Amino acid sequence: MDPAWVFIMNLFALLDQAAARHGDRGAVYHGERQVHSWSSLRERALRLAGSFRELGYGARVAVASENCPEIVELMFAIWAAECVFVPINYKLHPREMEQIVADSGATRIFASSKIGAQLEAGTAVPVETIGGERYQSRCAAEMPDPPRFTDPGTLAWLFYTSGTTGRSKGAMLSHRNLMAMTVSHLADFDAPDQNCSLIHGAPMSHGSGLYVPPYVLRGARQVVPASGVFEPTEFLDLCEQHPGCSAFLAPTMVARLVQTGRAKPRNLQTIVYGGGPMYVESLKKAMAAFGPIFVQLYGQGEVPMTITGLRRADHVAADGWASDAVLGSVGYARSGVDVAVLGPDGAPAGIGEIGEIVCRGDVVMSGYWHNPDATDATLQGGWLHTGDMGSFDANGFLTLRDRSKDVVISGGSNIYPREVEEVLLEHPAVVEAGVVGAPDEEWGEVVVAFIVGEVAAADLDAHLLERIARFKRPKRYEFVDELPKNSYGKVLKRELRARVQ
Ligand code: AMP
Repeated sequence: MDPAWVFIMNLFALLDQAAARHGDRGAVYHGERQVHSWSSLRERALRLAGSFRELGYGARVAVASENCPEIVELMFAIWAAECVFVPINYKLHPREMEQIVADSGATRIFASSKIGAQLEAGTAVPVETIGGERYQSRCAAEMPDPPRFTDPGTLAWLFYTSGTTGRSKGAMLSHRNLMAMTVSHLADFDAPDQNCSLIHGAPMSHGSGLYVPPYVLRGARQVVPASGVFEPTEFLDLCEQHPGCSAFLAPTMVARLVQTGRAKPRNLQTIVYGGGPMYVESLKKAMAAFGPIFVQLYGQGEVPMTITGLRRADHVAADGWASDAVLGSVGYARSGVDVAVLGPDGAPAGIGEIGEIVCRGDVVMSGYWHNPDATDATLQGGWLHTGDMGSFDANGFLTLRDRSKDVVISGGSNIYPREVEEVLLEHPAVVEAGVVGAPDEEWGEVVVAFIVGEVAAADLDAHLLERIARFKRPKRYEFVDELPKNSYGKVLKRELRARVQ
């Protein structure tokens, strides 16, 4: 085919376009301070890309740091050099970080000085300090032309799953996948422009970093908190200082914003929450505190940020908030994504029937890095199998039950922990609840609830008896100071299960 007709796409084009349109406007901020304009960001990314030539086409470049402004330039530099961005969550244990470095075959690690010091002892891969001397000399390298011939299927991001159900795997995301995510975000959720800002409250190695492309395309500011971590008051202050603020936050972070007791900051416009369950009670508290600024996403590393969504308007009804059924759902299929629920026989489940959620579309990964068995198990029959259980209602709203591994089967009945947790959280004294199955000779499994809060088991029993079927009630309550969570704030069910074995 004539090369002129071959479709070419590199995510660097998003920055190229923003720089052409918005040249001298502020692009990247550290707290209140402007670090780069769009022109200077483009130039830095290209010079860094020029220095990456030594690494070779397709090299995996790991980035391990607390949130910092350089992550934005590194991301675009890696894409411009046709290398692969491998972000590593800075909260992981150094051994877990080393596993990701080894699995990805990364040949260079860019790290903050703190994380770099932890990593250097355990890996032979060269570690360069972000902002250090070598880094600065890279930023002065000769400036290459932007990439012109990237095949959209080229790997752009190796997304290591957060490993709530086992050892993390590298989901392979291409330029095409991330472009589909970008377009869907702009179509469904948010319409930023050059007078808007993306505040990076959550780790940029995960959801917040994935949202860099759509906001860059629209010329919206990238604002990285000066602390590099999520501090609720700092986050709320930044939403007073910068215009038109949006952010992606995990549900646990939204709860921490509410706990500050502060009113909605003047410029806070949109909070996209997701990546883990948002309980209806917590969502109502958040909407009471900040108003209807919330959007929910349901996604996975394998389908970044984009399976279903509950738009801002879906959260409200003519007479107040939307119904509990709607607020407790994960919304409906995202633009460009086909979502289905399959029954045990692999055929589409009927309305209200629970089965495995599957999806397909341009946003779906091409497989797991160097892991054909896991790829074959996940990508079957043209569908990505999410491992999540759920059901559709007649209007196309999907309700997520639980990951299939978390379902409790007691006396032959399926019990979905999320349903029991939702009801437990309606009790005013319950701060957090985590429900798992424990092995039992008579019933196969029984329900055990881990509770954070000052309350008696008998009170909880009475509360549940008024609200859900008797057989779903926990046979045991364990009172704890906090629930075990991974570094993204997700409750570690496998750890709770291990405690009741
Ligand atoms: P990860 O790949 O680490 O982002 O984890 C993805 C998993 O998080 C999904 O498969 C779901 O089990 C869960 N998840 C993501 N979004 C939501 C949501 N909105 N509500 C409940 N669980 C979610």
